[in-house]
Amino acid sequence: MSSPTIAIIGAGVYGVTAALALQARGYAVTVFDPGPLPHPGAASTDISKVLRPDYGPDEVYTAWMEQAFEGWQRWQAAWPDPLVHLTGVFYPARTPLQPGDYEYESYQVLARRGHRPERLDAAAIAARFPAWAAAGFVDGYYNPLGGYAESGRVMGQLLRQAEAAGVRFVTERAVVRVHEQGSRAAGVVLDDGQVHTAGQVVVAAGAWTPHLLPELAGALRSTGLPVFHLRPARPELFQAERFPVFGADVTVTGYYGFPLHREGVVKIAHHGAGRSLSPADPARGVTEAEIAHLRVFLRGYLPELAEAPLAFTRQCFYCDTWDGHLWIAPDPARPGLVVAAGDSGHAFKFAPVVGDVIADAVEGRPNPLLALFRWRPEVRGGGGQEASRQQA
Ligand SMILES: Cc1cc2nc3c(=O)[nH]c(=O)nc-3n(C[C@H](O)[C@H](O)[C@H](O)COP(=O)(O)OP(=O)(O)OC[C@H]3O[C@@H](n4cnc5c(N)ncnc54)[C@H](O)[C@@H]3O)c2cc1C
Repeated sequence: MSSPTIAIIGAGVYGVTAALALQARGYAVTVFDPGPLPHPGAASTDISKVLRPDYGPDEVYTAWMEQAFEGWQRWQAAWPDPLVHLTGVFYPARTPLQPGDYEYESYQVLARRGHRPERLDAAAIAARFPAWAAAGFVDGYYNPLGGYAESGRVMGQLLRQAEAAGVRFVTERAVVRVHEQGSRAAGVVLDDGQVHTAGQVVVAAGAWTPHLLPELAGALRSTGLPVFHLRPARPELFQAERFPVFGADVTVTGYYGFPLHREGVVKIAHHGAGRSLSPADPARGVTEAEIAHLRVFLRGYLPELAEAPLAFTRQCFYCDTWDGHLWIAPDPARPGLVVAAGDSGHAFKFAPVVGDVIADAVEGRPNPLLALFRWRPEVRGGGGQEASRQQA
């Protein structure tokens, strides 16, 4: 008897980890993505993504990340190349940490859960992380549990694993819509008119999702965020032990970044309001205004990089929900369809555990996280947005 079939739209981290999880549960899975894979425009295809359990008061994500870390370590042990770098994460601030602050609440949750965040004052920061000496930080902490994954290379590894596990990939064509039989999702239609039928369909198209499913355009939004890659004059200052992954006064500035990468660059990105446009827009790209905003930040916080040349920039896209929680849920109006999107700029770190949550949604299995990630078109307006995302 043949295995039940599943079509997944999108080969980013959602699509590929869901494919691995569903294939392991006995389904015959086909993933559709125009490619090439990993897709250069996908959010998952980048040189690095932060791995952190620090989530302010949102302990559900800290707990989930504790599970994800076990997965990252298992994966890394099986991979030939070092793609996971546990440099620790550094959260400095220019004002003393207060209840209600992201940094203060993160520190409390981490300490309560038995982690060992180290509180740092101005002198300790200057001594340990000299590139930040002139930034005027007076408080903060360093969390040894955290770091980054080389996300593009991780995607290459996961794609190979999925192919080896029997997942089929159909590339060079985009899906233009979900194929329906009656009100049931029954496959996909490609841009050359081909129809591929399947027992169930998962839309994992990242920031393209509200464009592929316009009925979700109010609840999900595609937002472009700038990413900068700088060439430091003194690379030794930016080695991981002296310059770990950071969030610099992050609720105020929105800026976070990474130590020197194997490409010889320091990556800094801005978790701000971003710009609302489609990832398919030919005008996608980082603007002069965004670069000028970065330079102001660098002059104030990281003078060592203030005039460093930009090696390259990238505009990367969030699939934003209004409350910042993921969106992984069956469509109540269309049996056989699950939408896995709404990453809101923070889901890559959950790669080892998110595939099984999507598979649980497909199978209708109980999973406490699915209540948080439920189908919720009624949730609108900026209530759940972080402070840094409310600034222009
Ligand atoms: C600037 C930036 C920084 C980030 N930093 C971090 C971080 O530090 N830590 C972290 O955990 N997360 C981070 N994230 C979030 C993380 O990148 C995302 O949560 C994650 O990559 C989303 O994966 P995805 O599979 O949903 O989407 P994507 O990776 O974008 O994949 C979607 C795929 O769908 C395909 N697709 C689209 N339309 C179609 C179609 N019609 N037919 C077929 N295929 C289609 C695309 O080609 C693409 O391959 C960041 C995101 C951005 C933008």
